[in-house]
Amino acid sequence: MRRDRPESENPDLLAQDGVSGGIEELPGRVDRYGKAKNTALDVAKYIGGSDQAQELSKQHQRLSSCGDYLVFRHYFTVDQVKLHGARLCMQHLLCPLCAIRRGAKSLRAYLDRWELIKVESPHLRPFLVTLTVKDGPDLLERFKHLKKAQHELWKRRQRKRGSSLDGVAGAVWSYEVKRGQGSGDWHPHLHMIALAEHQPDARELASEWHNITGDSFIVDVRPIDQEDPVSGFIEVFKYAVKFSDQPPADTVHAFLALRGRRLLASAGCFRGVPEPEDLMDDAEALEGLPFVTLFYRYLGKGYSLQGA
Ligand SMILES: [Zn+2]
Repeated sequence: MRRDRPESENPDLLAQDGVSGGIEELPGRVDRYGKAKNTALDVAKYIGGSDQAQELSKQHQRLSSCGDYLVFRHYFTVDQVKLHGARLCMQHLLCPLCAIRRGAKSLRAYLDRWELIKVESPHLRPFLVTLTVKDGPDLLERFKHLKKAQHELWKRRQRKRGSSLDGVAGAVWSYEVKRGQGSGDWHPHLHMIALAEHQPDARELASEWHNITGDSFIVDVRPIDQEDPVSGFIEVFKYAVKFSDQPPADTVHAFLALRGRRLLASAGCFRGVPEPEDLMDDAEALEGLPFVTLFYRYLGKGYSLQGA
């Protein structure tokens, strides 16, 4: 039986991105953004030479200039660096830079909510649940199938007639798409943080999931380390697509199939966490503190510090 191994397939970036971050971490961060921008430019170049160049000319333009400059503020008395300004394209399905920033912002917002929930409901623990459907050649068809199945699973829980998720008080989940290994077919799946007193039973869930999907019983349930919740939460808030693992043609294909669709959803006590309004770091808590401005410009291949 094939199992998804979420933690091993995620070498990524979000962990520290904008969550902590002093001046020592800035070069590494700027380097990550530079690599993300390089990949964004690869995607832009692909679009420019593709059959979709006309249809996607606006997207192409925004993607090409996304993150041309970055302005950070270093609040030196507390050693915190915040991304303060940048013109970003906000196309998180096409642009790895915007995907990183969006993921980091959502991660922060849900971790904050989890801190509040813990105070009110100290018995709840977080679990990472992964649900998959069988691979298929038609991405949109597979994605809709997964979404519908998840909807049905959650409805069964609400009916309280004995679902494997009956004990779940709240959940947030995100959809991810990639090509399956070997088959080359599309492999949509979802990662969910489920809050419950007891770990949902994986066997029961697999059987219920098979009953709903008709084609898949592949599920995974594991506890999230409460000392280090970021490691589990990160699975849900990382990219919807793996830009570095797939050719630009697949990135564009996934964008065309999934644009405008909700890829992050929540229920129960995780409901109502607002979507990030912009992709800059929150610096409200630092208001009034002195800072130095650091201005970076993208010069082919990476960012250079232009002035402070
Ligand atoms: Zn962007």
